[in-house]
Amino acid sequence: CGIVAYVGHQEACPIIIKGLKRLEYRGYDSAGIALLNKSGLNIYKKKGKVVALEEELKSKDTTACIGIGHTRWATHGEPNDRNAHPHYSNHKKLAIIHNGIIENYATIKQKLLQKGHEFRSETDSEVLIHFIEDIQSELNCTLVEAVRLALQEVVGAYAIVVMTEDEPTQLIAARKSSPLVIGVGEDEFFFASDATPIIEYTKDVVYLDDNQIALVRNNELKIVNLENERQLPYVQKLEMEL
Ligand code: GLU
Repeated sequence: CGIVAYVGHQEACPIIIKGLKRLEYRGYDSAGIALLNKSGLNIYKKKGKVVALEEELKSKDTTACIGIGHTRWATHGEPNDRNAHPHYSNHKKLAIIHNGIIENYATIKQKLLQKGHEFRSETDSEVLIHFIEDIQSELNCTLVEAVRLALQEVVGAYAIVVMTEDEPTQLIAARKSSPLVIGVGEDEFFFASDATPIIEYTKDVVYLDDNQIALVRNNELKIVNLENERQLPYVQKLEMEL
């Protein structure tokens, strides 16, 4: 039950894997990562420990400056490779990691099934990324707007990070009743469930509040709330040591 994401100029994969290991104390049953490079969105997930995922990644091309990683504590759907995060939308353009529970996922899933969405897992989390994709294609709006509109309909608790194949410098994060910290580096951003994966790279952090959505794009951080009102990021200095 942990989140680590990175966008910047360094290799994302080692930062994310190391970060997930730092979050291992939180407990989990599977782990996964999505990396975006010129070949597109590559998603690897494995039941078991982060080292099992790491082992699998050894034979893959993990070059990428942007990625999202997750350790899962299953609530909906048994712990297996398929139900591990990240989850992706119909056209494999969007990927999501989610900690928490989407309580009204069954109702949303029913509507999406009728519209032809195909689901690959039993999780509540996968429903959310299909829902976001559906809103974006219906309204032809930006991804961050689709995330906002989706979250307005969602009942439950969440920390999420969303990425898209279309925007290799963009990560979108949001939270409600689940922690999420943003590390602000030099032309790089880190997202994590707590500050331990971030501290070795930067001491400047923003703790996202409930009902806030953070958009990082082209090295800029913008925060809005669920009503789309601009929120000023409050950058704090971390005092903890590693
Ligand atoms: N409810 C989601 C699932 O079962 C996320 C669980 C978590 O917080 O790791 O996949």
